[in-house]
Amino acid sequence: MDIKENYTAIKNQLPLGVQLVAVSKTHPVEAVQQVYNLGQKVFGENKVQELMEKYPLLPKDIEWHLIGHLQTNKVKYIAPFIDTIQSVDSEKLLAEISKEAGKNNRIIKVLLQVKIAAEETKFGLEIDEAKALFQKYIDGKLSNVEITGLMGMATFTDDEEQVKREFLVLKGLFDELNQLKTLKTLSMGMSDDFPAAIECGANSVRVGSAIFGRRDYSK
Ligand SMILES: *Cc1c(COP(=O)(O)O)cnc(C)c1O
Repeated sequence: MDIKENYTAIKNQLPLGVQLVAVSKTHPVEAVQQVYNLGQKVFGENKVQELMEKYPLLPKDIEWHLIGHLQTNKVKYIAPFIDTIQSVDSEKLLAEISKEAGKNNRIIKVLLQVKIAAEETKFGLEIDEAKALFQKYIDGKLSNVEITGLMGMATFTDDEEQVKREFLVLKGLFDELNQLKTLKTLSMGMSDDFPAAIECGANSVRVGSAIFGRRDYSK
């Protein structure tokens, strides 16, 4: 399978209204450009440095999403152009994004990253922390950031029932917070589990290897 066939196959599997974030990490700008030329405008990267290298070489109407852990001291590099930061996992980071967005006269969209996997993961908010942070955001005055939804990753396992249970936990939180203030995006599902995520209510999926092929971290 080549990139064009992969991309077309994924697009054909997505119901109307489900956004595709094409995850291009580790893949060269030529591959990103190829998928862009097929009509894809939304791309995800997980590292600031890699994004900063690719950004100037690619079309300016790409909507870039940061999907990996973000250190507060790196927010300033991406604040001028990033569309959405999907990996917000602390109040400090949220405040920093608003501050840097303000300097650029922009509003940056963010998703709260929530821990739903059984495995020990370093990043992401616990359910209760996410609720508390969202309430603070509603009550607060961060004027240059907008929480538009939630992001989560299920456990890496073949047990589809477990994966679905985890996705449904995030869907439950999404519905709950949505009562307090309207949310738009529920980002869950990757190459191996996006059909299950969609069944469980995801309206945005982050797909990398099923489009671009396997990642080679040795390069
Ligand atoms: C790499 C990555 C993806 C895409 O993973 P694939 O299995 O290649 O589709 C999705 N979400 C996050 C947060 C990632 O880091």
